[in-house]
Formats: sequence, structure tokens, C-alpha cells
Amino acid sequence: MYKVGITGGIGSGKSTVTRMLECMGVAVYIADDRAKALMRDDERLRCELVARFGDDVYVGGMLNRSYLAERVFSNATELAALNAIVHPAVMRDFDTWAEEQTSPYVVIESAILFEAGLDSRVDCVVSVLAPEELRIERAMQRDGATRKEIERRIANQISDDERADRSKYAIVNIVLEDLEEDVEQLHRRLVYDSQPRNHILDE
Ligand code: ADP
Repeated sequence: MYKVGITGGIGSGKSTVTRMLECMGVAVYIADDRAKALMRDDERLRCELVARFGDDVYVGGMLNRSYLAERVFSNATELAALNAIVHPAVMRDFDTWAEEQTSPYVVIESAILFEAGLDSRVDCVVSVLAPEELRIERAMQRDGATRKEIERRIANQISDDERADRSKYAIVNIVLEDLEEDVEQLHRRLVYDSQPRNHILDE
């Protein structure tokens, strides 16, 4: 199965792009949502989390999110340990899921695609880009957050320049009507790329 990673900074519109592709019949995997579900349901992942962070990770079988957040908050070692357990579990689950899909290609959406090393596990990366001021305004409105909170989150992410450099395709999302056209064009391109013969010819 041909795998496409979609990423972008907060407020860039990556979820909007992913939803548009889903409407065109593409199977989509939202890494963040699936990670949460796996931490709740995946037996192997649960065991690994308990082994590393202790029994308090689960209370009455439910993930103790605030305990875990406190453990990794401003502690780079603990956060790295958590990621080293969760990211491989997500990749295992994504690979299994991808093989069951029947669309021409599949999409994995992740805000931290590069940071989590997921880019090396897909055939093609698409970045969604937008001017920072626009991203801040959109995110403030969507999340009801303050400018400071959004700016802090942006400061913790890689820059749009780096994203663009490391992607096969970039979509600049400013005006919604243009975005729809660009996503349709992207879809046609990805369908073409995903055909094994074309993939080999282009190499
Ligand atoms: P991300 O997933 O990258 O954080 P979203 O796709 O959720 O971004 O978009 C952030 C917010 O901005 C959402 O409320 C979305 O509806 C809105 N949005 C996205 N693209 C545009 C656009 N081109 N014009 C206006 N609003 C947009």
C-alpha cells in the first residue's frame, strides 16, 4: 500500500486537507487519535507503559492522562521514553491498518510526523503551510486559546521552511476555495504516484 504522510504546524489546515482527501475516498489514519485509542486498548502498549511508568498509569483500567502528563511535563528524558514506547506502537498499528485498506493510497495525518520519525515510514510526505499570523488567528479561534499559548506551541514545532524542505509536496493554505482546487490536484498526483509502474518510472 502506498503511504502518504500529511503534516503541518498548528492552524496550517492539515486536518482540513486530510478531511478533503477523505471525502475523495482516501482512507485516513489520524495518528494522534489512534495513539490515544491504543494507549487505552492495546495490551502490549499498556504493559510497556506500566513497566516504564508504574501502575499509576492506569486507574480502574482507564488511562490516567494527568499522571502521565505530569511525569513527562518539562522532563525531556521521560518524554523521550514515552515517545519511544508510543510511536512504534502507532507505526505497527498503522502498517496493519494500511494493508486492510482498498483506496489507491492511504494517508497518515500527524502534527509531529518529522519529530516522531514517521516520515521514514511513508512513501511520500505532504506539508500544509500557511503564514504564521494566519495560523495563530485560526488556532486561537478554533481552540479558544490565547495568542501566547499558540505561540508557545509553534515555538515547540519545527519551522515551515524545514517542513517544506523535507516534503515531496507542499500545499499553501490561505484561501479556502483555492485549497479545494489544490487538494484535488494533489489527489490526482498522489493517485498517479501510487501506481507501482509510475512509481518505478519516476525513480
Ligand atoms: P490544523 O489541523 O493544521 O491545526 P485545521 O485544519 O484544524 O488546522 O484548521 C485550523 C482552523 O482554521 C479550523 O477551524 C479550520 O476550519 C480553519 N481553516 C483552515 N483552513 C482555512 C482557510 N483556508 N480559510 C479559513 N479558515 C480555515
